[in-house]
Amino acid sequence: MRTTLIAGNWKMNGSRGRTRELIRAIIAGLPQSRGYEVVVCPSFVFLADAAGALEGSGVGLGAQNVCDQDQGAYTGEIAGDMLVELGCRWAIVGHSERRHLYGETNTLVASRFVAAQRHGLTPIFCVGEKLEERESGATEAILDEQLHAVFEQQGAQAFRSAIIAYEPVWAIGTGRTATAEQAQAAHAHIRGRVAEHDARAAAELQILYGGSVKPENARSLFAQPDVDGGLIGGASLQAQDFLAICHAGGPQ
Ligand code: PEP
Repeated sequence: MRTTLIAGNWKMNGSRGRTRELIRAIIAGLPQSRGYEVVVCPSFVFLADAAGALEGSGVGLGAQNVCDQDQGAYTGEIAGDMLVELGCRWAIVGHSERRHLYGETNTLVASRFVAAQRHGLTPIFCVGEKLEERESGATEAILDEQLHAVFEQQGAQAFRSAIIAYEPVWAIGTGRTATAEQAQAAHAHIRGRVAEHDARAAAELQILYGGSVKPENARSLFAQPDVDGGLIGGASLQAQDFLAICHAGGPQ
């Protein structure tokens, strides 16, 4: 039985005060006992404030990326150890904004995935196709390439301690959400590919959907058999919207 996980990707938004305020509002609105996990991923520079504000809440802390190297001359990068020291347990890798705005390749993303696991962080590995790739029928081939890069570097058991987020690029920040059927089909494909290497990991793997999840569409997406929660961008910046999405991850 897989637990539903709702992760908020706050991207490059907020301030120290706003981060603490948003966390306070989220904690206040979550039920004490809940059947789902909640993780927030603020900007690197607010992680220490966030860790303090989250203490004792049961809400997890994640980073938005992690360096593929452990230390040294890598200006602007953040090592896994540093994130762990700040209280992170998850790290997003391969977000489409990193891939497409900053040129991160499948190989680099896979190296970041490996580094996250090396430091005991659970990678939230983002995969997804662009609009033209979907329209040309290449969605599954793109997902396969992205997964293959990780298997190549980390081996068959790569997904024993990982999360995958299926985020079609055309749905991120656009207000255009994949239908529940489109999400289910992609998630089932991903789980099937992982199962070819490691059936146990595939059965236990949390696969999140991301791309314009809102309070109005969260429940139908999360009701799909292979959708185990969501990676939420824009809607995670408003406590009420994020909480409504979290509640949609609770018992139906
Ligand atoms: C994201 O950036 O991971 C994301 C899913 O964004 P949004 O929810 O705003 O589409």
